[in-house]
Amino acid sequence: MAEQSMNDRDARGGWRPAENIKLPPIYAWPLRPLAIIKWFVGFPGYLWPFNALVLLIAVFTWTFLTPGLGQMKALEFWWIGLLLIRNLFLTATFFGGLHVYLYKYKKQGDKLQFSNRPFAKNKNFHFGDQVRDNMFRTLCYAVPIVTVYEAATYWLFANGLLGFLPFADNSSSFWIWLVVLLLIMPVVHSTHFYFTHRLLHSRPLYKRVHRIHHFNIEVGPFSGLAMHPVELAIYFSTVCVQWILALHPLNALYQLQFAVFNAAMSHTGYDKILMTDDVGVESNSYFHYLHHKFFECNYGGTIAPMDQLFGTFHNGSMEAQERMQQRMRDRLG
Ligand SMILES: [Zn+2]
Ligand SMILES: [Zn+2]
Repeated sequence: MAEQSMNDRDARGGWRPAENIKLPPIYAWPLRPLAIIKWFVGFPGYLWPFNALVLLIAVFTWTFLTPGLGQMKALEFWWIGLLLIRNLFLTATFFGGLHVYLYKYKKQGDKLQFSNRPFAKNKNFHFGDQVRDNMFRTLCYAVPIVTVYEAATYWLFANGLLGFLPFADNSSSFWIWLVVLLLIMPVVHSTHFYFTHRLLHSRPLYKRVHRIHHFNIEVGPFSGLAMHPVELAIYFSTVCVQWILALHPLNALYQLQFAVFNAAMSHTGYDKILMTDDVGVESNSYFHYLHHKFFECNYGGTIAPMDQLFGTFHNGSMEAQERMQQRMRDRLG
């Protein structure tokens, strides 16, 4: 990124990365094997840091913070309550940590921040305050709903109702399949998000459900799960793909935890979370920021090229902006 562009803002306080958004090299033709390997194992890349961090959290959660499957055969208050408490703790820590770092203590000021306008205070939000409303929705709606999906997953596995693909008995194919599903998890997330998100932009669902999320014009980590409960139920239903495919509950847990933590990352409002003046973690959130800004583009993510395929991809350029406006004019006739 060009150094001089870090603090250049337009008249409305907007800032954009110097480079346009690109799809991963796996979707470029002709194939460039070296670029693909670099993207896959490089830092930052597909594996590191974010996907690996969430996997680490999932493995830790499964090993140390989840009762044994044998104890979850019957739906009982104690273990579902335990899942709820640890999910509240993990979510509050991750979302709260990002929010405090970026917005309370302003550790990197407005460096690499897409917009420096403040969060809203108006009657669209509970308590008349965007951040409080977002926190309320995240902790009181999103966490209980994701916990219901998680508890259902374990209960179904514990009772032998999931994990029935035919190669479950062979130990090497079991482990290969587990790793394959870990690797394609973000693609599942992005594809499911694209189609459900487009559905949410249909007129009746938008008016009743999805507009709550779009009250967030300026975004912060807690905007990620600031949704109507119906939208949250749709959003976390991504785990149902793992109900069909997975042989081990870890795959489902990874899918759910990614849906939680990625929501915070994709709404940070910053292009990169800086640890020092120039070392930091990419948030990859400009893509979704453009969706909040323009509504009619970037419904999914970049790891599954759905927006590209269906003509809704906006890479941040003037040409993409013109294409999107033309699409809107065509639709209005
Ligand atoms: Zn959003
Ligand atoms: Zn939307």
